[in-house]
Amino acid sequence: MWLSCGCTSKNVMTFFSRRILRSYFHVLGRGRCNVAACMPEAAGFDGVLDRAGLQEFSVSNTDSFWAAVARQRLSWISPFHTAQDCDLNRGKIKWFEGGKLNVSVNCLDRHVHTCPERVALIWERDEPGSEVKVTYRQLLEMTCRLGNLLRRHGVRKGDCVTIYMPSCPLAVASMLACARIGAAHNVVFAGFSAEALAERIRDAQSNTVITVNQGVRGGKVIELKKTVDVAVESCPTVQQVFVAMRTENPVVMTARDIDMEEEMLKEDVVCEPAVMDSEDVLFLLYTSGSTGKPKGLVHTQAGYLLYAALTHRYVFSYHDGDVFGCVADIGWITGHSYSVYGPLANGGTTVLFESTPIYPDPGRYWETVQRLKINQFYGAPTAIRLLLKYGDQWVHKYDRSTLKTLGSVGEPINTEAWEWYHRVVGDGRCPVVDTWWQTETGGICIAPRPSDPDAEIVPGMAMRPFFGIKPVLMDSEGKVLTSNDTSGALCIAKPWPGMARTIHNNHQRFMETYCQLYPGYFFTGDGAYRSKEGYYQITGRLDDVINVSGHRVGTAEIEDVVNQCSAVAESAVIGYSHSIKGEGVYAFVVLKTDVDIQEADVSAQINNTVNKKIAKFASPDYIQFVQRLPKTRSGKIMRRVLRKVVEHDLNGLGDLSTLDDPAAVQEIIQGHNDLCSKQQPR
Ligand code: AMP
Repeated sequence: MWLSCGCTSKNVMTFFSRRILRSYFHVLGRGRCNVAACMPEAAGFDGVLDRAGLQEFSVSNTDSFWAAVARQRLSWISPFHTAQDCDLNRGKIKWFEGGKLNVSVNCLDRHVHTCPERVALIWERDEPGSEVKVTYRQLLEMTCRLGNLLRRHGVRKGDCVTIYMPSCPLAVASMLACARIGAAHNVVFAGFSAEALAERIRDAQSNTVITVNQGVRGGKVIELKKTVDVAVESCPTVQQVFVAMRTENPVVMTARDIDMEEEMLKEDVVCEPAVMDSEDVLFLLYTSGSTGKPKGLVHTQAGYLLYAALTHRYVFSYHDGDVFGCVADIGWITGHSYSVYGPLANGGTTVLFESTPIYPDPGRYWETVQRLKINQFYGAPTAIRLLLKYGDQWVHKYDRSTLKTLGSVGEPINTEAWEWYHRVVGDGRCPVVDTWWQTETGGICIAPRPSDPDAEIVPGMAMRPFFGIKPVLMDSEGKVLTSNDTSGALCIAKPWPGMARTIHNNHQRFMETYCQLYPGYFFTGDGAYRSKEGYYQITGRLDDVINVSGHRVGTAEIEDVVNQCSAVAESAVIGYSHSIKGEGVYAFVVLKTDVDIQEADVSAQINNTVNKKIAKFASPDYIQFVQRLPKTRSGKIMRRVLRKVVEHDLNGLGDLSTLDDPAAVQEIIQGHNDLCSKQQPR
């Protein structure tokens, strides 16, 4: 119905699957693959003989590359006439103009035509062993009922619906229902406070919110509906709140609230998909910037979907029938791209993980891998470091033989965690892909794979740009650094389909943050090192770079070395103002639980190791041992909080409601005071 070429989607899928299948037989000797094996969509590119040639082609013939892939990967209602119309100098980014499509049709209907009973979602509920499987047919029905319900309640094309829900099938159906009727969604991580939620609802000008009565995480009940009640008090635009029931406990319903599941049952299971332009908004996603005000990054339809699908397929080597286990919450970009849009666009089976890595015990991830037979596991280094601390026995207890690829995302993965992940979790046989990307990039931009099957993977390095990505490093004067074995500000030289188009209601801020610092380039805000071999390693946010006596050093770099000390579970390093050196190094260190060693000895070991592995100037002036680090519920260390403690600016600690455990901050303040009373800095 929606295919402009007049074929049925079934024919397209069969043709496509056949091409992919055929390509497996074209793997050449000595670990190098021919183009069809690397990427069946690229089989027709003239003069492209191998993977290196394909990478080169993708950046030097950007239009041909992306146009060919977009035609083959996505189902179009009508074809696009222009592959791209971009000018980074002006912050103008447009892909596949003239094309019309519907994202929910791409994620659901076309798979329902070919394999309606294939499992689309496996909802790994907080309660272990109570997973729920949802087929493509069921998910389409759920999405259509919800789309009709939203339409009946006045949600129109171009509106923005805020979704405040834990990872669950109804949350995915809510996202896809918005896409179906042409509304944008604004998923807010269900750990944000009422104030943070309200700020995002107001900025997005949402008139509709979707939530659940209560969330359940790590065995604890979270009062999500109550949080929404408080938030919407200060959101005059909100007219209606749809409430689904995650638990059996009733909640107070106001005149504004609608029982979502009850009303969905009254709706038809067919919902006419809206015809969307490639560049219509698909979603907003708020993320933190260098200022206190979160920015709503805007992603659009075709380019985002294509990029999420392609990276999902090739970075993780996802194949039909695999079970993809991304454990990120849907409230973050990783959940959007690799729990929802990428896997579903590829007709995959994707896990929605509702729990925590240590509930009910530190074996949770691996028990889930065994039970759900997960093939690709994608998690965050912070969780890996945490689990490493509990010891190998929790991993060994479970069968992980289904695992084929292990992924890491969100922050630099230190060598020790990488090696543990590879050796213990993956039994030394699964490639570990350290994937670098951001909310702004929409999908993975740098990762060890895709590459030739036996191409080396260096621990803790994102390494290789994805197709169509051309990373460049800039020096402090804004000049492109051309040599290898060098560090600089990481920019991307060419637009790619998955990148954010603007900041909602603030294109000026988009321009200033990403486009103006290095005119003609997209500035990522990260620093990177390019090795002698030309591989990329992310050294951390540039705002986390410390300048000690004129020497620049990344906090991530120091952390990596500190974490190599055998007694250390994890660490966070920050810079602080130092009267002589400009900045000094302050390390917060969490020790492993089972170590029997004096703190003074660990301090000495840390200093020696940093002296040895980086330089004397990088070795910490202060080492504070803490029970735990302040982290967001998505597992990111809140360095801002640590900085404020070290600067004695307790009034500036800001909103702590997003912390996983706000009590950690009090312990850190106390420990810092004790340390300062005992020790003078070096
Ligand atoms: P977010 O937009 O919240 O996903 O955060 C993106 C930021 O996380 C990036 O700008 C990096 O600073 C950091 N990041 C994400 N992935 C990696 C990675 N593989 N290695 C190092 N840093 C990463």
